[in-house]
Amino acid sequence: MLQASAHMGASTSISVIGAGIAGTWQALLFAKAGRKVTVYERDERTMTGGTSHWAGGMLAPYAEGEASEPVITRLGLRSLDLWRKALPETPFNGSLVVAHGRDRADFERFAKLAGGYKRVGSEEIATLEPALAGRFPEGLFFPAEGHVEPRRVLPVLHEKLRQAGVPIEFKSEAQPRDLDGLVIDCRGIAARGACPGLRGVKGETVLIETSEIALARPVRLVHPRWSLYIIPRADNRFLIGATTIESEDASVTLRSALELMSAAYAVHPAFGEARILEFGAGLRPAFPDNLPRITVDNTRISVNGLYRHGFLLAPALAEVTVAHVLGEKTDPEVVRCA
Ligand SMILES: Cc1cc2nc3c(=O)[nH]c(=O)nc-3n(C[C@H](O)[C@H](O)[C@H](O)COP(=O)(O)OP(=O)(O)OC[C@H]3O[C@@H](n4cnc5c(N)ncnc54)[C@H](O)[C@@H]3O)c2cc1C
Repeated sequence: MLQASAHMGASTSISVIGAGIAGTWQALLFAKAGRKVTVYERDERTMTGGTSHWAGGMLAPYAEGEASEPVITRLGLRSLDLWRKALPETPFNGSLVVAHGRDRADFERFAKLAGGYKRVGSEEIATLEPALAGRFPEGLFFPAEGHVEPRRVLPVLHEKLRQAGVPIEFKSEAQPRDLDGLVIDCRGIAARGACPGLRGVKGETVLIETSEIALARPVRLVHPRWSLYIIPRADNRFLIGATTIESEDASVTLRSALELMSAAYAVHPAFGEARILEFGAGLRPAFPDNLPRITVDNTRISVNGLYRHGFLLAPALAEVTVAHVLGEKTDPEVVRCA
């Protein structure tokens, strides 16, 4: 079981490859455990090449239960505690799921599959989100959920690493075979060749700006054709996302752009006046079962397949990896020995 720890003393250096959300949390928790860590990142500080840059950043272990296995909720709930501990300012305003009256069947299906919510009527929706007053007859409010803004939170976590004495070598491409000591491979979709079955699942987004409407939390619209979410960002910005397409072509199609924007307009016509700032697309790294894996091969540990849950799962996966390496305990649902 403790393959890695059997070969590793406490003084063994640890190299993390990839400073996306997975690698960043691995480095943070290994440093916290007192280990000497270096992070190698092939991109520049802006990190626009990785998937994490394009993410919504929702921390939604319950709402995601609608389309994922219970392990995602279990690890996701643990992650919420770790986010709170590391960044107490993380917004935990909950999230809201709404549907138009005509889409009640889809809404009820969502309600059956998700947990951790309170049913709210139109008055409570108006209290939670005044901008949505009178627009939806019913909703699901998930009070425990939170969200982060990936492009702001990654630099904050990187700064925490720096303060903990962990160097991040930007513009440094590294391969697991070339590094000494214990290597934690968090290359995301770039590790395709080393992770059998790993594929990219495209997610497209539209970033808009408007002062005509305000939201306090992510709002998901359940819809028979285009289910989407709108996440409020700083400076009157909103991220509309996201498609889920089996394609590794990271361009935004006209159809997807139309669907995303139509769905936002269906949430509130005020979005029709918003300025479009950016069309974005990222490839979610996913295994065939869409579940994350920590694969241990002696002194090489790969953490990958975070799919649509990277921000939700990265802290808990890092905790599992550290516990495994220290020989404390393991988590057979995600840890595999190669
Ligand atoms: C549109 C969209 C919306 C999403 N929304 C959410 C959400 O709301 N909540 C959520 O939890 N998740 C969400 N996700 C999923 C999440 O973004 C991913 O699961 C997560 O970003 C994967 O993180 P990662 O660190 O594994 O990969 P990446 O972020 O891709 O990081 C890998 C890093 O490794 C670097 N790298 C690669 N090869 C090398 C090398 N040889 N040497 C050095 N560095 C290397 C890359 O440059 C990259 O920076 C979303 C994804 C998309 C696309």
